[in-house]
Amino acid sequence: MGGMGGFGGGPGVEFTNPFDLFEQFFGGSAAMGGMGGFGRGPSRSRAQAGEDDKVELQLDFLEAVFGCAKELDVDRLTGCDECDTTGVRKGTTPTTCPQCQGTGQMVQAVRTPLGTFQQVSLCPRCEGTGQAFQPCPKCQGDGRVRETKRISLKVPPGVDAGSRLRVRGEGNSGRRGGEPGDLYVYISIKDHPELRRDGITIHSDVEISYVDAILGTQVKVTTVDGPVELKIPAGTQPGTTLLMAKRGVPRLGAPNVRGDHMVHVRVRIPKAVSAEERKLVEELKELQSKTKVGPFRF
Ligand SMILES: [Zn+2]
Ligand SMILES: [Zn+2]
Repeated sequence: MGGMGGFGGGPGVEFTNPFDLFEQFFGGSAAMGGMGGFGRGPSRSRAQAGEDDKVELQLDFLEAVFGCAKELDVDRLTGCDECDTTGVRKGTTPTTCPQCQGTGQMVQAVRTPLGTFQQVSLCPRCEGTGQAFQPCPKCQGDGRVRETKRISLKVPPGVDAGSRLRVRGEGNSGRRGGEPGDLYVYISIKDHPELRRDGITIHSDVEISYVDAILGTQVKVTTVDGPVELKIPAGTQPGTTLLMAKRGVPRLGAPNVRGDHMVHVRVRIPKAVSAEERKLVEELKELQSKTKVGPFRF
């Protein structure tokens, strides 16, 4: 959970996505219960909600940082036009289900030590519709056929690996007038050659020579906004981290808030030096032994 928690429950996290809002995928949120299930509560109307569907989407590093528009081809069940989603063969009329006599239910007496109970279940033959019918040849009576649909998706800035995007109503069609399921888009992110991401913070490394570490220098740093000049102050120690404020990732749901970019400075000590360079370093050593600048100066 950590600092990223709280989406969905937070105050008014809404997106301009024409389809739907976004959910962070950390631990099981309540919506997980609906995955692939018919379980949208008992339904007297015999309507059956469509199953949720899921699809994976891999984004480039910067697409995830700043958001993007994507087209997805989703293979899912949609209403059969041959039978107008009824599942009944054209030109035929349904009759009463012989197994349940049209009630759609099977009632069984169950004896227990506490007494006899009546157990009511859906009629397995007609799935609770109370009807028997000749199935539509196109959909085999399901009322739905598998079709590929192209969906336009707006990915908000700040999505992270493991994020889950919900597109409401773009899952499988329902049956007998039931609500369609939702489409869940699972986000993964390609690596960047230079940048690493930790939530809304970007990390990268820069290597400078020991001379530049002593004297200070200016380097070009790759950021999500493009190359940026960074001043390395004189006397920079190996392992120093320099912070470039607000060059990180926009916060999901609040894109005006941006994280920082941490630049980790590595100091390159040459393994071999030229005769001339060696001479200069030796002179430097001699100079240092004469001046002896200690750590405690007043
Ligand atoms: Zn029946
Ligand atoms: Zn059909």
